[in-house]
Amino acid sequence: MSTDPKEAREPATRVARDALQRPLHDLRISVLDQCNFRCPYCMPEDEFHADYEFLRRSQRLTYDEILRIARAAASLGVSKLRLTGGEPLLDKNLPTLVEGLAKIPGVDDIAMTTNGMLLAANAGRLAAAGLHRVTVSLDSLDEDVFRRMSGGRGDLNKVLEGIAAATAAGLTPLKINVVVQRGVNDRTVLDLLEHFRGTGHIVRLIEFMDVGNQNGWRLDQVVPSQQLLDKVQARWPLRRLDQNYPGEVARRYAYVDGEGEIGFISSVTDPFCGDCSRARLSADGVLYTCLFANRGTDLRESLRVGADDEELTDVLSQIWLQRGDRYSELRRPEVAEAHVLRKVEMYRIGG
Ligand code: SAM
Ligand code: SF4
Ligand code: SF4
Repeated sequence: MSTDPKEAREPATRVARDALQRPLHDLRISVLDQCNFRCPYCMPEDEFHADYEFLRRSQRLTYDEILRIARAAASLGVSKLRLTGGEPLLDKNLPTLVEGLAKIPGVDDIAMTTNGMLLAANAGRLAAAGLHRVTVSLDSLDEDVFRRMSGGRGDLNKVLEGIAAATAAGLTPLKINVVVQRGVNDRTVLDLLEHFRGTGHIVRLIEFMDVGNQNGWRLDQVVPSQQLLDKVQARWPLRRLDQNYPGEVARRYAYVDGEGEIGFISSVTDPFCGDCSRARLSADGVLYTCLFANRGTDLRESLRVGADDEELTDVLSQIWLQRGDRYSELRRPEVAEAHVLRKVEMYRIGG
């Protein structure tokens, strides 16, 4: 592996395009499936109880295995990496992995999605290791609503301290992800926006998705982005911003009064499969080409029976070439409740 920082800007040797001509740009890496929260929309406590069997260490990819897959993906066009989970900060050695990822030729953006509980203690080390940006998931600033949405485990002050530490460490622009559920946190959204206006942090309001099989998703709990947009506009006029890059999932708006940016992620009411350039790697090495996939490809098996780097790149390339996923465009929200296929769970692939 090269240690020359200049190489990090080298382009991919070949760019993979899928069956719908979409390039492979992003790889999301779930480092472990465990979490210190039990958000009911992701890991409901009655399913993920004290006896639930998470992956054993031997079942999880090692850092060397993750680095090999990330290098192969970079050689096919991946330039953006995102660490996720479960909760990635439960992995105490994460800076070591980040250091390795930062040296991969072609990778120019490394981000992490976290619930923020353990961020204050780790932000500085992660930034020093080469992490560029952080997204913090924070559904409400109302303490009762926040506690409920974290499954009774979150401490709001700790998350806010984590956001401050990440900002001080330069892990910016920092994004705040808010999953909006009707009757749960929708009435607290404007307060949250007000809190972050003028801070430079970008709040993104996400429609509650029918991902996985265990969160009891119902269409009537989804607050369509358009409704939220109308509500926000009525308080603070907004103007539409261009995409930062093709395939960006959030529709971007700026507050007309100059107090910052806000995003809407509308995967239920306004899907964005047409530009989707993301692959997702679970902690046990299964590669998924769609958030709603019902199966993926086991790369851990290939690695552990001795595939060399060229073989690994070929396997990845074949997976991407055959990809035709566009779940959100094909499903109609009104029939999604009746979907019978077992889909991968969010905590395995990290959003
Ligand atoms: N634990 C970390 C966190 O919460 O940021 C990383 C993993 S979490 C699965 C990644 C993102 O997925 C979070 O922002 C979370 O809010 C979002 N998410 C989980 N389940 C969801 C659902 N059913 N609909 C929409 N977003 C969801
Ligand atoms: Fe954990 Fe993140 Fe899922 Fe919440 S959304 S249960 S913090 S993995
Ligand atoms: Fe991408 Fe699948 Fe989501 Fe469509 S449904 S945007 S293909 S992850």
